[in-house]
Amino acid sequence: MEKKKEACLVCGEELQYFAVDREMECVYCHRKFMSKASCKAGHYVCDECHSKTAVLHIEEFCLKSQSKNPLEIAVKLMEDPYVYMHGPEHHVLVGSALLTAYHNCGGQLDLPAALDEMRARGSKVPGGACGFWGCCGAAVSTGMFVSIATGATPLSNETWGLSNRMTACALHSIGDIDGPRCCKRNAFLAIRDAAKVVDKQLSIKMEMPDSIVCTFYQFNKQCIGKRCPFNPVNH
Ligand SMILES: [Zn+2]
Ligand SMILES: [Zn+2]
Repeated sequence: MEKKKEACLVCGEELQYFAVDREMECVYCHRKFMSKASCKAGHYVCDECHSKTAVLHIEEFCLKSQSKNPLEIAVKLMEDPYVYMHGPEHHVLVGSALLTAYHNCGGQLDLPAALDEMRARGSKVPGGACGFWGCCGAAVSTGMFVSIATGATPLSNETWGLSNRMTACALHSIGDIDGPRCCKRNAFLAIRDAAKVVDKQLSIKMEMPDSIVCTFYQFNKQCIGKRCPFNPVNH
């Protein structure tokens, strides 16, 4: 099956990005949005419609998974044809993979409720937040994971600190490599950092592969090649 990565959901054309917002109508829900992205034929699909199916698949898969390895879960989720090479569904995917592995490793949480919460919170982070906000959604997803796993709120003490430090730690690793963005690279970095934080701070040892080798790079037109620690040329 051919994967149409970073292509229009409607016509398969490539996506294009503008420097400033333009008003666009979502071809699915017909609501109007200000956006910097459309396909070259002018189609625009809002973030919500784009990732709705993907996000439902993520939750469905996670509820059935017995895996204790968040990276393995994430890769399985990324192989779903509804999960695109790049897209805001990764903002839910990263935290969901972590919550699932954490739970399967003995972490105390109500997984269905936690995944619902992850879906609600992660879906609020728009596509392109990495470049436009300076705050990659995969990193934010690790902060949401820690917040949900520890029950943090804006009024919490240590768990508030840990959630913010988690996001900062992942953002640091992601920023150090420079762009262009890659939702796979950033997800791998974020999960790797989260596994370390969970081990050290929450005393749950999740399984991780000895080395992470990307199996998606051939679908990424902006792959940074040997600058990416997960590119096969580095293994
Ligand atoms: Zn199109
Ligand atoms: Zn829509």
